[in-house]
Amino acid sequence: MAEENKMEKIVSLAKRRGFIFPGSEIYGGLSGIYDYGPLGVEFKNNVKQSWREEMFRRKDDIFELDSSILMQRQVWEASGHTSAGFTDPLRECKKCHHRYRADHLEEEGVEKCPNCGGELTEPKKFNLLVETHLGPVKDDSSLTYLRGETTQGIYVNYKNVKIAMAAEIPFGIGQIGKAFRNEITPSHFTYRMREFEQMEQQYFVKPAEADIFFTYWKNERIRWYTDLGVKKERLRFRPHAKDELAHYAKGAEDIEYEFPFGWHEVEGIHNRGDWDLSRHSKFSGEDLSEVDGKTGEKFYPYIIETSAGADRAALMFLADAYSEDKDNKRVVLKLHPKLAPYKAAVFPLLRNRPELVKKARVIFTDLKKTGLNVAWDDRGNIGKRYYAQDEIGTPWCVTVDHQTLEDDTVTVRDRDTMKQERVAAAELGLYFNSKLNV
Ligand code: ATP
Repeated sequence: MAEENKMEKIVSLAKRRGFIFPGSEIYGGLSGIYDYGPLGVEFKNNVKQSWREEMFRRKDDIFELDSSILMQRQVWEASGHTSAGFTDPLRECKKCHHRYRADHLEEEGVEKCPNCGGELTEPKKFNLLVETHLGPVKDDSSLTYLRGETTQGIYVNYKNVKIAMAAEIPFGIGQIGKAFRNEITPSHFTYRMREFEQMEQQYFVKPAEADIFFTYWKNERIRWYTDLGVKKERLRFRPHAKDELAHYAKGAEDIEYEFPFGWHEVEGIHNRGDWDLSRHSKFSGEDLSEVDGKTGEKFYPYIIETSAGADRAALMFLADAYSEDKDNKRVVLKLHPKLAPYKAAVFPLLRNRPELVKKARVIFTDLKKTGLNVAWDDRGNIGKRYYAQDEIGTPWCVTVDHQTLEDDTVTVRDRDTMKQERVAAAELGLYFNSKLNV
């Protein structure tokens, strides 16, 4: 399958089957903005839920937060975002006024405007923060920003969480939430958007332990992707070069995935040093330092950050799962069952046999009561229904047939092996849950 074609196919499937729609589509769309449809919401929620399970359930020293999108403007001054820290280099075509990221043009070895061949301006710094005003008067004093990253809400609440949870370093705080960036060139579908969701975790450590925890978190985070079925050969680490490091970073490595459009970042692991807590102490006047129990010395905790994007991860899972089975003329989303929007679909073998439909409805309703998201389909023939479920990644299809009426068993067909198995209807909830929790 040609890789550039693959993206087109994913975008088209995403819209056709209700995963992702272009934002404000009936008005011609809005660059860098996308809406999630019914299946997309389930799917992205599953991605976020898997991250939450990994961070807050499997570990006992990380606490969850849900801080607000809007914060005091000073937060962004302390963090360095309003100054040179949060800018991308921009070049504009003097003729057609198209704007480009200078670093992207450089990577591609492009000197003239890719749109019209016109001359480009020298690179200038462009701040990515999205501005807004709070309150009835729209002037400089009411100016603030939609957060450019979720992380800052964590630093602002560092002391609150530490005291409320009686936490001692090392410990972490994580959260999932929206972030906004006025990206110069939104691109590659949901890869680079202007409104997106992040899944960020900040681990606070003693400075001497920062390197150990940096390695620990690198390994933990790549394992999360492979545990959810992402092909190992399509993942790699890329250390940042010295001149590429963010203003706060002491060390950084990206986890990159080989998308159909090339190797690109899905998550950043950063050693942010003591930049954040020392800066917020200075700007807010609140002392966020710690005292070493042994030496009595005062220090600002170092922060190891794991910064992932929910939308970017979701796109990666979609791209990794998309496959075409030429022999059977099937498109199959081989999503990890935990991520699949529906865990199972229930069909009556024939839609014009009321006793089958009635029985299938009971099985469907009982299965939904177990907490699993289950689909119902009685359109077309069984082959067409399998095709429709394969395309959205449903791992198991349950068919209710004549034998069901006699012995209360059903056929369960597996998406990947296409093998069928007879299972007692009453056992279905247990059967799927045990498979999901392998
Ligand atoms: P890039 O170099 O791609 O602009 P970045 O290095 O600025 O990304 P970070 O600030 O480290 O990204 O953000 C952490 C994570 O948030 C990224 O790895 C990505 O998953 C997600 N993310 C950042 N910007 C966007 C965006 N515009 N659209 C979707 N996800 C994003």
